[in-house]
Amino acid sequence: MGLSAPVVIVGGSTAGLATARELRDLGHDGPLTVVSDEAEPGYQRPPLSKRGLREELPPADAAAGLDLEVVLGTATGLAPSVVELAGGRTLPFDRLVIATGARPRRLAAPGQTGELVLRSREDAADLRAALARASSAIVVGAGFLGMEVAGACLAHGLAVTVVDVDRPLERLLGGFVSRLVQDRLAAAGGRFLRGRATLLGSPVNGVDVDGGRARLSADVVVTCVGDVPNVKWLAGSGVHLADGVVVDGRGRTNLPSVFAAGDVVCAAWGGNLTRRPFWANAMTQGRLVAHSLLGLETPVPLWDDYFWTEVMGCAVKVTGPTPLAGEPDAVEGTPEEGALFRWDGPHGPTLVAWGHRLSAARLRRLRLEPPEPAPAAAESAR
Ligand SMILES: Cc1cc2nc3c(=O)[nH]c(=O)nc-3n(C[C@H](O)[C@H](O)[C@H](O)COP(=O)(O)OP(=O)(O)OC[C@H]3O[C@@H](n4cnc5c(N)ncnc54)[C@H](O)[C@@H]3O)c2cc1C
Repeated sequence: MGLSAPVVIVGGSTAGLATARELRDLGHDGPLTVVSDEAEPGYQRPPLSKRGLREELPPADAAAGLDLEVVLGTATGLAPSVVELAGGRTLPFDRLVIATGARPRRLAAPGQTGELVLRSREDAADLRAALARASSAIVVGAGFLGMEVAGACLAHGLAVTVVDVDRPLERLLGGFVSRLVQDRLAAAGGRFLRGRATLLGSPVNGVDVDGGRARLSADVVVTCVGDVPNVKWLAGSGVHLADGVVVDGRGRTNLPSVFAAGDVVCAAWGGNLTRRPFWANAMTQGRLVAHSLLGLETPVPLWDDYFWTEVMGCAVKVTGPTPLAGEPDAVEGTPEEGALFRWDGPHGPTLVAWGHRLSAARLRRLRLEPPEPAPAAAESAR
């Protein structure tokens, strides 16, 4: 494709704007249109569950200086070489990038109101306001987002119960890290209850756990139980869909001019088709797709194995293959003062920096260095 052909990107968030920026950096000077169904494209979601639950975040400026047309609207269909928008407008393209991300999975029954979720700036504002009025909260879901929301609730001085069928962060980071997370939750005054939650009341005011084993009520009930890729608008388009838009290692769909990046993507990982909805993947795939779309060699793999979170104010950074299992093979430091854990798995090492001041770049570099022989440290941490 020449550097001047029209490109349409549907979705104006992390992956969409990373693609746009990389296209311009690579010399694309043709029409570039970004379709966004959010009024303020380009804001970052990770701060929403951290600082964004304490205060209003500044406006986004990620699209600034990119020389692109932002079309505020919702894509409702895809026909050959044309994106259809709600209201009847159509956008022709030479190349299309699908970057429509995901939305929260919800637990409310049809007609049940008041389920709080966290995905957008509006959700963060609603939750912030609700937390300011509340004295108790239930968080359903003990994954990254759930634990961050629990941390924010505790910081607001609320009594907090987290409910999940699995222990906190255990699915991805294994039992060792999960125990650290549970200890930190307990030390901050939070409670973890293991079981399957069903929402009670309309508006929602509590949960039932395991079909009557426990019934809890709270002023605020937030669900953080995963996300669902935004692919409905692609029905009937011929784009191969599974749990998201299926792409190859260069971000290409099965249609020749159509690419995808970010949380909407589903691709091979460890032998399965999977989604890895993390910020670093959205950024990396945006860059990758820009190269792919211009017919250039792709500079990075599709998946980036770095992500980070905050556990009750403690920064946790992870790089390397997951899920983790068992105890770490090496430990440096202490959880109280900052620790670096290393697992040497069959697919390469994974490092977890727990409350450690290491930068992401340094952590990535460390992972590629041979491990220090530190059997005494590893033994003493078991
Ligand atoms: C609260 C929160 C905290 C997070 N914290 C972390 C973290 O600490 N670390 C980490 O690694 N990751 C974190 N993440 C994940 C990270 O933010 C996502 O991986 C990233 O935002 C994905 O970007 P995306 O552009 O692929 O999708 P999205 O950010 O979902 O953007 C997709 C955009 O497309 C729009 N759209 C959807 N359908 C249409 C349509 N039909 N027409 C037009 N527009 C449409 C959506 O409204 C949205 O604006 C967090 C996510 C959330 C929600």
